[in-house]
Amino acid sequence: MSLRLIKTAAYFDGVSIHRNGPYLIEIHRGYIAAILNGEDIRLRLNVEENDVLETSFLMPGLVDAHVHVFLDGAELNFKARSDYQKSDFENMMATAQSNISKTVKAGITLFRDAGDKFGVNHATRNELLNDNDIPLTIRSPGFGIKKPKRYGGFIARDLVDIRHADTTVGEIARDSNDLKIILTGIIDFKAGEVKGDPQFTLEELSALVDISHAKGMQTFAHCSGLAGLELAVKARVDSIEHGFFMNKEILEKMAEHQIAWVPTFSPVYFQWKHPEYAGWDESTVGNLRKIIDSHYQHVKIAQALGVLLVAGSDAGSYGVDHGRALIDELLHFLAAGLSLEETLTSATSRPRMLWSLPSANIEVGNQIDVVGYKSCPLKKAKNFYLPSFTVKADTFTAHNI
Ligand SMILES: [Zn+2]
Repeated sequence: MSLRLIKTAAYFDGVSIHRNGPYLIEIHRGYIAAILNGEDIRLRLNVEENDVLETSFLMPGLVDAHVHVFLDGAELNFKARSDYQKSDFENMMATAQSNISKTVKAGITLFRDAGDKFGVNHATRNELLNDNDIPLTIRSPGFGIKKPKRYGGFIARDLVDIRHADTTVGEIARDSNDLKIILTGIIDFKAGEVKGDPQFTLEELSALVDISHAKGMQTFAHCSGLAGLELAVKARVDSIEHGFFMNKEILEKMAEHQIAWVPTFSPVYFQWKHPEYAGWDESTVGNLRKIIDSHYQHVKIAQALGVLLVAGSDAGSYGVDHGRALIDELLHFLAAGLSLEETLTSATSRPRMLWSLPSANIEVGNQIDVVGYKSCPLKKAKNFYLPSFTVKADTFTAHNI
């Protein structure tokens, strides 16, 4: 399919919103050749009759910075979830395929997996590399690393001795761009705090970051709670994932050292919204609400301080379904008080820039990598849930029609 022209009433280019359309985007061999406005559109369309794809809003393909492609976030049965971990690789690949199709339907054209110990993420990434019909790219870390007997056994492998770090990180670097570090435990919602001390000491974490950088990898750390956050900042990890129980001092240091933050509202929000599944009592629901409200406040402070906020859903986590969970995340950013431009930047241009990938901004010369909407999300943000098409290089995919 070789789409040549898209006419849109408005578009977000990756930084700013252009509202005074229509605009005509001309595509040549998978790249944006021209962006026309006003009288130029009439002249262009008179010169040559073409099929024109018409839409109300266009923007760069969405990026989800935190996904577990091997997990089905829509599976709410606890036993089914734990049995799944013992199922065979083929079954996991089938789950990943179903997650991929949901992801594409949400207008996501790139995501970063956040770890699985089975390697479904690498296998799925490699399959997509050879598939020109699915407009999606995966950035995959393979398995993450954790301390023995600590949280994260399903997404990471044990680093038994820090003296083996060079070998283990070297093994990961052969096939990955990022090292996923499980730095802390998970949140104990009942107690309203993070379980246990950080898994690594400052010396160990700094060594992991230095070794990763020397091998050309970035680091992203599962990290919540002040003790872990302080370590993550001191060791200069590249991205803090989750970051619950954040404070302003940590954010100031993150801004100073250009450490990204992927706040992943969705898994905690689901626990608050549906306490019946886990059977949370009133006091736990109160804790959940406090954690979420504090997260909203700190995301807003982060934005004001210039912290590199990046949208990531933690899709695959309990109650966090692939694809639409990223849109939930965008709505959380808006609810925190970020502007629409800031919110969309966190899910388009910023992650691509941080990961040193080619820009997908809607500018002449860039490869076409866009998502279009029939019902304009500028009028109603919920319209982000229903994109009507994706165009990535030579692939055109229609959705939700
Ligand atoms: Zn995760």
